[in-house]
Amino acid sequence: MTHSGKTVIVIGGGVAGLAAATLLSDRGFQVTLIEQKHRLGGRTFSFQDRTTSDVVDNGQHILMGCYHYTLRWLELLKQAHHTQTGRLIHIPFVAPHKKLSPLIIPDLPMPIHLLVGILRFKNLSFLERLLLIKAGLKLSFQHIPEKISVNDWLSNLGQNENLKTYFWNPVCLAVMNASLQNASAKLFTTALKQMFFVKRGYSRIIIPKTGLSELFVRPSEVMIRQNGGIVLLDREVDKIRLTNDQITGITLGDKNILQADVYVSAVPQSGFNKIIDQDIRDKYFNSMTILGTSPIISIYVWLTGIHTDQLFHGSFIGCIHTKIQWVFKKSDSLLEITISSAGDMVNRHREEIVEVIVEELRMLFSDFEGSMVRHYLVIKERNATFSQSPDSEFHRSSCITPIKNLYVTGDWTDTGLPATIEGAVKSAFTAVDHICAKFQR
Ligand SMILES: Cc1cc2nc3c(=O)[nH]c(=O)nc-3n(C[C@H](O)[C@H](O)[C@H](O)COP(=O)(O)OP(=O)(O)OC[C@H]3O[C@@H](n4cnc5c(N)ncnc54)[C@H](O)[C@@H]3O)c2cc1C
Repeated sequence: MTHSGKTVIVIGGGVAGLAAATLLSDRGFQVTLIEQKHRLGGRTFSFQDRTTSDVVDNGQHILMGCYHYTLRWLELLKQAHHTQTGRLIHIPFVAPHKKLSPLIIPDLPMPIHLLVGILRFKNLSFLERLLLIKAGLKLSFQHIPEKISVNDWLSNLGQNENLKTYFWNPVCLAVMNASLQNASAKLFTTALKQMFFVKRGYSRIIIPKTGLSELFVRPSEVMIRQNGGIVLLDREVDKIRLTNDQITGITLGDKNILQADVYVSAVPQSGFNKIIDQDIRDKYFNSMTILGTSPIISIYVWLTGIHTDQLFHGSFIGCIHTKIQWVFKKSDSLLEITISSAGDMVNRHREEIVEVIVEELRMLFSDFEGSMVRHYLVIKERNATFSQSPDSEFHRSSCITPIKNLYVTGDWTDTGLPATIEGAVKSAFTAVDHICAKFQR
């Protein structure tokens, strides 16, 4: 079914906006995508480092086997081959001056694969492994109360400090970009259930083989334009205009007014709050409190005097008892280091951050001593995700709004998922399905 003739304005060119615009243009809508910056991609993009000419992302992004919507979208963009699907969970760990074993979930039927993986996880005592299995059973069968933190939920289940340090904390930081104390147990356990208790392949880690812009952004832009759509860069939407429960246009920063049959907001929550007037907010979105945000710092270090294979096997490693949480091998000489929930680091000078990182790399990998950092890049994403705190779920807007022709998408909307690419793309699919159903009627 095509919907030729119907016009849609999509506000915001991150993955939610790009997914909405490509899906709608694919289904015959006349799409105009409006982005305030000079580039598309939002919080998911890559660029060329000026010194080395290497293409780097604004931070390592990982997809998972359970990212249905993202994988469907990549199929539509014909980009699925640009990702590399790994084995089921296989995560080596390191800590300063301590030998740790990896977490390996074997390729066995579900849920035996989890049981075997946990029972072989030597960083925990045998009793702690049994406690971990108990938590797994609780999370798959028990109702998790709203408004409690992951830390409180774990403490109620008798999970001790060692379990938190060697298992729960790294998992929580990776999934929620928040500490155990600040993360919502409800959201966290929903994500874990989806990854580990639905289908075995859902826990596969999928790593992009190209830069994020090559994977998502450029193919989307090409598809929108090929389908007759328009992409406007460097145009900020100032306000959406409302008359009788219906959007009648948007005003751009340069005071131009654009109109369409349908409007899709794909901006972050703070951006949405800016483009709607106070009276619209009070009337239609009165329970919406602006959520805080949580930063991620990504550090790229280019090394000489060492091959990155000398440091560790595989493509990434988890780090315990350090500021560094994950180290990814990007090439023979390039490492990417991730620090999630980086509130205590984000205001430090870049040089200082690199000093801390290099010191920790020395403590983690004895071979690092023989190398030198010839170049580095520190990327601070201050608003990497919204704060996924225990009460955040109450302030995420529904995609379908009380305003007849306005849909709201983005990772912060009411997707039931953490702030991820998958959440953003899922919200786009939800909006597009509703828009199509409306015009079919
Ligand atoms: C360093 C880092 C690492 C991450 N790692 C992962 C990961 O491993 N896996 C994962 O799934 N997710 C990860 N995420 C999260 C993921 O990137 C986000 O959830 C996702 O990109 C959000 O997309 P979005 O389209 O909802 O919002 P955004 O990407 O923020 O897009 C919103 C767009 O709207 C534009 N905009 C705002 N206001 C206006 C306006 N008034 N007019 C016009 N345009 C406007 C903005 O410029 C922006 O381009 C990570 C994020 C970061 C920063």
